[in-house]
Amino acid sequence: MNVDLHCHSTASDGALSPGDVVRRAAAQGVEVLALTDHDQLEGLQEAREAAHEAGIAFVDGVEISVSWRGLTLHVVGLGVNVRNAALRTGLERVRSGRLERAREMGRSLERAGISGGLEGALALAQNPTMVSRTHFARYLARSGRVATTKDAFRHYLVPGKPGYVPHRWAQLADALRWIGDARGRAVLAHPGRYSLSAAAMESLLAEFRAAGGSAIEVVSGSHSQDQYALFGALAAQHGLAASRGSDFHAPDEGAELGSLPALDHRLRAVWADWEV
Ligand code: AMP
Ligand code: MN
Ligand code: MN
Ligand code: MN
Repeated sequence: MNVDLHCHSTASDGALSPGDVVRRAAAQGVEVLALTDHDQLEGLQEAREAAHEAGIAFVDGVEISVSWRGLTLHVVGLGVNVRNAALRTGLERVRSGRLERAREMGRSLERAGISGGLEGALALAQNPTMVSRTHFARYLARSGRVATTKDAFRHYLVPGKPGYVPHRWAQLADALRWIGDARGRAVLAHPGRYSLSAAAMESLLAEFRAAGGSAIEVVSGSHSQDQYALFGALAAQHGLAASRGSDFHAPDEGAELGSLPALDHRLRAVWADWEV
């Protein structure tokens, strides 16, 4: 079964509308899709309706930004009740401050000699309260400051670079509680992206599991082949299920919907007990 449980629409930093993401997924052969916009549930209704029309199974999802030991982690919630008050209020709190951070990023890029960053990023964001580093990256690439959005991150938008502004996101325990309250499953997104030592990864996975986490992404658009094996083994060791998600954002950025290898059949898939 082709299952893709991580992707983005214009409700956060994706380039396609929620309906277009779903239709593209169906055309790519995806049979079960979760839309997981950052800190935001806005796109889910449109996506759910489009999935119904396209005849594919749909899972309500969200990707929550978390601060943990000074790092930013992402936790995906799957099958969440979108009407749950704890989740809705929590996400609202996580979202607040994004626009102010973007202003600060704009000022900090100005100091590095790059003008118009804030306006450029806002012009590419459908919703100004969801403006993200991705919108800055697209602006930097389109205005010719860098060749690709990847280069924009490498040179400007990651810790230690001039356009990077740290931010306080949700606490890990809070994010897991909101997802649990909304009857969802919590999945640690793209663990290979966090550059943690083996010991720090062990303690993150132990803490994640103890606080109610269900699964980790094993097959992810951010992972190499070697990392599929590494995180498959870590999932099994920690009694966590495994997930598969492209983290699709746009047709010309990163992995395509439904295109990654299947999960190793020896792993327990996070969707194994779903009725879809
Ligand atoms: P923000 O939530 O504003 O900090 O933006 C985070 C988003 O930036 C992530 O969800 C990714 O879509 C994107 N991103 C982060 N790091 C990179 C990277 N190194 N290369 C490409 N995209 C990235
Ligand atoms: Mn993103
Ligand atoms: Mn992410
Ligand atoms: Mn994502």
